[in-house]
Order: sequence, then structure tokens, then C-alpha cells
Amino acid sequence: MAVQRGNKATEKIAGELLLYHARTQAPFISCVLPAYNESGNLGSLIPLLAKQLETLSPTYEIVIVDDGSRDATAAIAVQLAADHPVRLIQLARNFGKESALTAGIDHARGDILILMDADFQHPIETIPLFFSYWQQGYDMVYGIRTDRHDESAIKRNLTNWFYSFLTRASNTVPIEPNAGDFRLLDRSVVEALQKLPERTRFMKGLYSWVGFKSVGIPYHVESRKAGQSGFNFWRLLELAVTGITSFTSLPLRFCSGAGAAVSLLSILYGCYITLRTLIYGVDLPGWATLVAGMSFLSGIQLLAIGILGEYIAKIFIEVKQRPTYVVGRYYSYEDRQQDLTRP
Ligand code: UDP
Ligand code: MG
Repeated sequence: MAVQRGNKATEKIAGELLLYHARTQAPFISCVLPAYNESGNLGSLIPLLAKQLETLSPTYEIVIVDDGSRDATAAIAVQLAADHPVRLIQLARNFGKESALTAGIDHARGDILILMDADFQHPIETIPLFFSYWQQGYDMVYGIRTDRHDESAIKRNLTNWFYSFLTRASNTVPIEPNAGDFRLLDRSVVEALQKLPERTRFMKGLYSWVGFKSVGIPYHVESRKAGQSGFNFWRLLELAVTGITSFTSLPLRFCSGAGAAVSLLSILYGCYITLRTLIYGVDLPGWATLVAGMSFLSGIQLLAIGILGEYIAKIFIEVKQRPTYVVGRYYSYEDRQQDLTRP
């Protein structure tokens, strides 16, 4: 089922000269869906998705990664496998969306992978457009949210601020603020992603880091059909810290900068005090200045230690070399005759 490669051709697309591998007409498509408590969505999503994928290629699979759901997500996936080419990768617990995506990417067998959420927020109708760009030679096609109407103004602003900070801070990796995990990856991109050994996986940064010929397609984000978002403020904050510590050492540089600035100010202040004492003699000890200075300095020091701690924590996670996820159980439409199989 390998893509015919090596037959290079050039073509002008949207004003760009693309050198690309000839694409097979019927690639094996893997659609990867991380699912955490998505029992309310999967039953209606999968038949629609299967119908759409059928129009693109006769060979496809839908890989559902059950990320430690506490509802019937896995059971529904197994039921769906009776009628559709569904494979279930059931993680041993909730590892988080980034790990679930990594598990899906590792287990998908397709020539191309389509990553999408299992809650109807990523419109199925956009997939043919992704596919046509892949056929034209793009290795990665990602969706760009045209509006974030389902989110509060605070979340929207914080998200924009975070991505523009990250893009500027990690000047090698531009991260598109409104692009998410809704994307199509060629097998070559998947192989590159699998070569990245890091445990803390900030997927949006990793997609950008590997590069490849990419194009963003605007799409209208739908509302979640059933269930609740698995991301609350603290989880998003954790993801943001992971993104920053994985892709930039700017906060560490900020600590050095702040340290240097405070030291310089202290020297200047010291000179001023000395001169004043020499000229006007010793006056009343200024304990207010002393207290203010001390608390400011301890604040800066604690902040610096905290930032340093974040990076050390990341190093700690990396050196432990624990796997990104643990698979509890597999089930494939190919095992329809058998019972649930264990790895
Ligand atoms: N998800 C997951 N593990 C988690 C949280 C979410 O696999 O710990 C999945 C979820 O089932 C959905 C996708 O990731 O398919 C996006 O999650 P969600 O809709 O909760 O996030 P939001 O759209 O609010 O950013
Ligand atoms: Mg969602």
C-alpha cells in the first residue's frame, strides 16, 4: 500500500513552485481520533466519517484512541468496528490528548494520516479539501480556525498572546496561532515525528519543527456536539508551560537579564548612597527602602528559581525515559470474529 515515490514532477500551485512526489491515486488513509469520554459523539460521527473517507479512497481505517475514558467510548468503538474499518487503541489511563495523538500516530498504518477531534468540532466536509492539497504535493495540510466563537474572549486573547509569544521566542519554529491538531500528514511527516524522542510532546510545536511542505486551510469550527471539553484552565496552562519549556529557553534568558538589571540598579543605588553619605553624612537608616528592596529581590529570586525548576522538571521527565503512553488493549475490525484481544 506504499505511495509510489521517486517519480518527481514540478507543478505551479498558488504561485509556488512545488517539487513533489507523485501521489498514488488510492492511498491507504488512516483517520486518527483521540477520544476522551466521547461516547455521545462516536456513534454518529464514525458512520459519517467512513462515508466521507470512502469517497476519497477504497482503503482506509479509523483509529480511535480511547484516552482512559470513564464512559462507554471503548465499547462503542468495538461496536462500530462491526460495520466500519475501526481500530481501537485503548490507553491504560488518561494520558492527555498529546499522548493520545502520539499513540494514534504510532499505530496508524496509512500512507496518509488525518488527525481530528472526536467531538464534531472539526468538520468532516473539510477532509476532501485537505486530501486534494495532499494530491497536489503538500506533505502537511492543517486547518486554521476562522473564528473561535465557542471560546470566551479571555481564552481567545490568552491563546493569541501565547502563540505569538511562542513564535517570537522560539524564532526557529513559527507556530500558527489558529492551527490545531486538525491536519493531514503524509507518511514522510509521520516518520519524522516518530524520530523525535521527547516525552513531553507539545504536538503543535512538533508539527512545525519537522517542517515539510505545508499549507493552512481555513475552516469554521463547529460546536462540540455532545459531552464536555476535557480542557479546563489548569490543563491549558499546563499545556502552555509545556509548550514554552519545550520550545524556547527565553524564560531562562529573562532570568539572567532580570538578574543583570537588578544587579546594575543595586550598584547604581550603592554609589548614590555612598555619595550621599559622604556629602551629607549618615542620616536615618531608610528601612522602608531596605524592606522594599529585599522583598523585590527575593521575589525575583523565587521567580528565577521557579522558572529554573520548570526546566529541571522537564529534564527529569526526559531522563526517566518513561513511555509517552501505555496501551491497555487493542481491538481491530480485522479481529471481528475474536473477542477483545490483548497485546
Ligand atoms: N481528548 C483526549 N484526552 C484528553 C482530553 C481530550 O484524547 O485528556 C480528546 C477529546 O476526546 C477530543 C479532543 O481530544 O477528541 C479535543 O478535546 P476537547 O474537545 O476536550 O478540547 P477542546 O476542543 O475544548 O480544545
Ligand atoms: Mg473539542
